[in-house]
Amino acid sequence: MIRIFKTPLFARWIFPRRIWGFSSSDTVYLTFDDGPTEEMTQWILKTLDEKKVKATFFCVGANAEKFPELVSEIETKGHAVGNHTMRHEKGTNVSEDVYQKSIEEAARHIPSKLFRPPYGRLPRKFDSNIHPNYKIIMWSWLSYDFDASIPVETILQKAGKQIRPGDILVLHDNEKVEERVKTLLPQLIDSLHEIWCYFRLKTGTVEQGSPYMMLLEIGCKCLTNSTIANSGQEMSEHPLIIMRPSL
Ligand SMILES: [Zn+2]
Repeated sequence: MIRIFKTPLFARWIFPRRIWGFSSSDTVYLTFDDGPTEEMTQWILKTLDEKKVKATFFCVGANAEKFPELVSEIETKGHAVGNHTMRHEKGTNVSEDVYQKSIEEAARHIPSKLFRPPYGRLPRKFDSNIHPNYKIIMWSWLSYDFDASIPVETILQKAGKQIRPGDILVLHDNEKVEERVKTLLPQLIDSLHEIWCYFRLKTGTVEQGSPYMMLLEIGCKCLTNSTIANSGQEMSEHPLIIMRPSL
């Protein structure tokens, strides 16, 4: 079976209300679906702290109800939360009324105006009835962290080739993906940093003398393309990557 990591561009025209990425952005947006769960969400928060990046957690209402302290912790640490329905309903399997109520119920436990449909399955006609205050956040790059038939190495290779600034990435914070995400996430963040630096240089958005250029000059391990720059030092932190939709 062919797995499509990168969402085709035509999705943006078919579903204009849904946000699939940010073409003018120089940031990559990291998102986690289906939590919060005790072990995985905690581990991810700790890893994000260590890597100094922010993310958005699309929480299932039933999990948020069970672990309200985790929802608070996500926000306290400067990340964002989003609504992922109350019981992770597939929009194509339930009536619009049931679906709307599930979003409303989840909203009691998830203070957010961001919404992501579970499985990305949402009949187009539902879009117009989702409360206009909500931004419907889809994704432009699916990690397939849930698919054990795809080696983590392959996912990282795809990430290196496909992810671009403005992309919205999806991973998961549930037990089913625990082992894979624990291997994948730290390496993915490191590789995103490389991509970010590389594109800043390549697209000329880094100007001589700008803070970004200074940052790169003091050393960024991303500069594997020696024709662009050379640097032997490593950055100890990545303060400029903010993976959080600023909507
Ligand atoms: Zn989900």
